[in-house]
Amino acid sequence: MIIIPEHEIAGLVSPADCLVAVEDVFASMANKSAYNFPVVREAIGHAGALYGFKSGFDRDRLVLGLKSGGFWPNNTQHGLSNHQSTVFLFDADTGRCRAAVGGNLLTAMRTAAASAISIKYLARPKSKVIGVIGAGHQSAFQLRAALDQRPFEKIVAWNIDPTMLVRLEEVAKERDLPFESVGLDQLGQQADVIITITSSFKPILKASQVRPGTHIACMGTDTKGKQEVEAELVAVATVFADDITQAATIGEAQHAVEQRLILPADITEIGAVIRGDHFGRTDAEEITLFDGTGLGLQDLAVASAAVERAILTGVAIEVEF
Ligand code: NAD
Repeated sequence: MIIIPEHEIAGLVSPADCLVAVEDVFASMANKSAYNFPVVREAIGHAGALYGFKSGFDRDRLVLGLKSGGFWPNNTQHGLSNHQSTVFLFDADTGRCRAAVGGNLLTAMRTAAASAISIKYLARPKSKVIGVIGAGHQSAFQLRAALDQRPFEKIVAWNIDPTMLVRLEEVAKERDLPFESVGLDQLGQQADVIITITSSFKPILKASQVRPGTHIACMGTDTKGKQEVEAELVAVATVFADDITQAATIGEAQHAVEQRLILPADITEIGAVIRGDHFGRTDAEEITLFDGTGLGLQDLAVASAAVERAILTGVAIEVEF
């Protein structure tokens, strides 16, 4: 069995590697050759923790496994980040455990890859301004991966606590791009692409604040009750998702579905666009919205890429198991 410690991950897989791995598995999902198993997520009544696991099987690449972990709100007292996870991969032929892989950085990278894929396939080619709503841990990963998809010329951002925007300003400096902290009206007026990555339970962005032609990647809503944009905005947009059932139940689309503004059948799996079975954006005035809820198969895809690279580079720790 192979062990890949968390601290090795950054040296093994790049955002570009993660984009390829996630894009491939989204396509396999749309082809019905990769599927996710039901998600388990429970408040365990200890340390305030939310624990769970996400799992799946990608038959095209024989990647089988699960990501286990969750959210421990008091972890900073222990010098750890609040989100902790580990990916376990199993040999699809024998069921033997193949690898245990640190899952923290991989989670941020696979989430950023998903919104970047949506930008790659759905944003207008000449998109110039990117807007980010949210400035927490995930936001910088989201922004970096998005900047690789279009020749963006400016970053605008909003956060409920504007002092946190320094995190995104750093990314702008890294890429030598102008950065502006703006109100939501201004963000919608300027941005060609908007990423939402907050843990909000109330709509932040309104339909009236978004221009025709905008692509929105809603990435923060991954639980029942969370919400980042008005249901009316989801209703006027052409909606794509990593997984339709998750989008309609725990994703941003849940509210529009609950209010019967849209049906799950109105949502298109992004994998269908990747495979060329759906043409994605049809005109420059259309608002496209990607509902990224986070899938076990994404975790397995990037962990598998890390394992392959670790074997090649001799970083993998092999143990008898
Ligand atoms: P974080 O705690 O580091 O940051 C949270 C962000 O949300 C901050 O910008 C904070 O200011 C903002 N925020 C909190 N409450 C708000 C409110 N009421 N209104 C507006 N903004 C508010 O979290 P993170 O790790 O950056 O994750 C952000 C979100 O993304 C979380 O909801 C997390 O569950 C979700 N997430 C989704 C996926 C996926 O695959 N879709 C993967 C990982 C995380």
